[in-house]
Amino acid sequence: MSKGVELKNPNLKHMSSDYLYHLTINVSNTVDTSDIQQQFGDVKVVCMGGTSSRMRDLALYLRNVLGNSDTSKPIDLAEAGHRYALFKEGPVLLASHGVGSSTASVVLHELLKLLKYAKCQDPVIIRIGTCGGVGVAPGTVVVTKNAFNGYLRNEHEIPILGKRVVRPAYFPEQVIQDILKHGNRTEDGFDTIIANTMSTDCFYEGQGRIDGAVCEYDDAAKLEFLKECHKLGIRNIEMEATMLSSLTLQAGVKAADICVTIVNRLNGDQVEITPDTKKSLRTATFSNCRQIYSGIAWKMKE
Ligand code: URA
Repeated sequence: MSKGVELKNPNLKHMSSDYLYHLTINVSNTVDTSDIQQQFGDVKVVCMGGTSSRMRDLALYLRNVLGNSDTSKPIDLAEAGHRYALFKEGPVLLASHGVGSSTASVVLHELLKLLKYAKCQDPVIIRIGTCGGVGVAPGTVVVTKNAFNGYLRNEHEIPILGKRVVRPAYFPEQVIQDILKHGNRTEDGFDTIIANTMSTDCFYEGQGRIDGAVCEYDDAAKLEFLKECHKLGIRNIEMEATMLSSLTLQAGVKAADICVTIVNRLNGDQVEITPDTKKSLRTATFSNCRQIYSGIAWKMKE
């Protein structure tokens, strides 16, 4: 049975209006949100990704898959805020989130409130990103099961009111299975796997790279760490999964994290690829994502 979004924040009840500042969306009357419902009430899927250009491309791609004949440019609904991009293509909302949990959590809080005010029924939030692989070939698509933080703990840790708050960090099994069912294609030679993900606050030292501006360990220590990650079932490293899983679990909204690996960290740190390899990897990445996009679009038509 479909259900609306009920957020666990009792304070929201006492706010007569709510300005979603970074999205530049004003909910002028939180009791009667019919204007917001009219614009966003049909949203079933929210796709999140790092950059605005990728979200714009995805909007155009979905337009095609959804059979929408509109030829106008996708409109960035959050352009005035100069922080994030927000597009809407049929029942799919597409938002950029920047790099890392801190920037992604800002827009995620506002998106969750938007889904609540718009009275969206049973929405699912899907992040589609890039990541470093741990023992898997570049081009592999990893759908996250459990999200580990940089201490290799399967939890999301956040300081709140000066205290360490720890919350669960995993993605619902049913959503993972749905994605696999619709997104997995064997014919292109790239795998889509379910695995654990390590999510860090730093691309360089936090992910055990030795090529950052600062480094106090050597290659052997790095490899030992990455092998420990591998033993925990971690097959990719990115920067948002613990926050995304824990915040959506707290909010009671279904979510998934799907990432394409662009480097195998057991072989090196640099995402350094020749123009030719870059082209084919980009094509592969795009094609892998497209399978998943098609899955989403197909689901929308159900
Ligand atoms: N994104 C990351 O966070 N790490 C990588 O290695 C590649 C992409």
